[in-house]
Amino acid sequence: MLIDSNLAKKLVSMSESTGREYALIVYENGSKYLYRLSLSGGSLPIYSSNIKYVFHTHPVPRYTPSLADIVTAYNLSRIKGAPVPLYTASRVEDGIVVYEIKIHPSADINKIAEEIIPIEKIISEDYEKYSKIQHYRMLSKRHITIARYLLAN
Ligand SMILES: [Zn+2]
Repeated sequence: MLIDSNLAKKLVSMSESTGREYALIVYENGSKYLYRLSLSGGSLPIYSSNIKYVFHTHPVPRYTPSLADIVTAYNLSRIKGAPVPLYTASRVEDGIVVYEIKIHPSADINKIAEEIIPIEKIISEDYEKYSKIQHYRMLSKRHITIARYLLAN
């Protein structure tokens, strides 16, 4: 994980108290920019090949990365021509869950999306099941890697 865990926790707390998503964009030269997204989510200025990684929060518990997260990770890697880690973080019962998503620029994003869309529909029915299915399926892909980190509260 490239982000400092104390900073990750702080950003999740800010997100919870305001109900908004925060995004931190870190560049190869070390500069960092923090964005507070609009209530509808909003878009990030990711059109730079100098981005080292992007970290963002969800104000409500999220047990898996969303399709929007996957697409953003893909766009980041296309712009750079190499995988750029996208982190997504939210608080769950026992701590803060951080997902690190990396997608190869030559990945077939349509195929990945086709497989994720039906799984997204299951989310309303069973969080636990959704989490397991999506996780296993994603991990089995050649061009996408997802790592899960749990930070203690
Ligand atoms: Zn997200």
